[in-house]
Amino acid sequence: MAERPYVIDKMISAKAIDARIEELAREIKAEFPVGERIVVVGLLRGSFVFIADLVRELGDRDVEVDFLEASSYGNATESSREVRILKDLRGEIEGRNVLVVEDIVDTGHTLNHVIHLLGSRHPKKLKTIALLDKPSRREADFKADWIGFEIPDEFVVGYGIDYAQCNRNLPYIGKVRFT
Ligand code: 5GP
Ligand code: MG
Repeated sequence: MAERPYVIDKMISAKAIDARIEELAREIKAEFPVGERIVVVGLLRGSFVFIADLVRELGDRDVEVDFLEASSYGNATESSREVRILKDLRGEIEGRNVLVVEDIVDTGHTLNHVIHLLGSRHPKKLKTIALLDKPSRREADFKADWIGFEIPDEFVVGYGIDYAQCNRNLPYIGKVRFT
């Protein structure tokens, strides 16, 4: 894919992300009973940095980490989207406390599909957290239990999130501006 030249304008600093994750972890701990294991499920690949920081804020809890990869394909002729599971969980979630971790909720189709799928496996508790939310883009009826930051309809990168597989290693969130 040919890339147009672009610059990245910083939008959310590493420090702000860090502070927000501390707050979110406190709320998550209040929601999940002490002494019960939490299966933290990261959606590959964009959530890998977020999940790494988040689970370390849950350091005093019994946490298991698993991953799921989903891909959504837009359909030009319909407003619907097909979501496919490219990599399923390794572990069972029936009767367990599950926290799904996503990078961005955009149209909402991906998480909507994933939550229905995981819900059909009868977890004891199923909650979702997304670092970023673009509410103005929503198509599916989906709402995460926790959101790090609401952002406008901009294409963002960094902190695990890519543009053409680059910029995942930036410690902050920035928006892509084509020059
Ligand atoms: P949706 O909610 O539309 O089903 O899809 C959410 C997914 O779209 C996110 O997990 C992410 O992979 C991708 N996405 C949405 N907005 C952006 C963005 O600004 N930058 C990047 N790199 N991916 C995005
Ligand atoms: Mg994604």
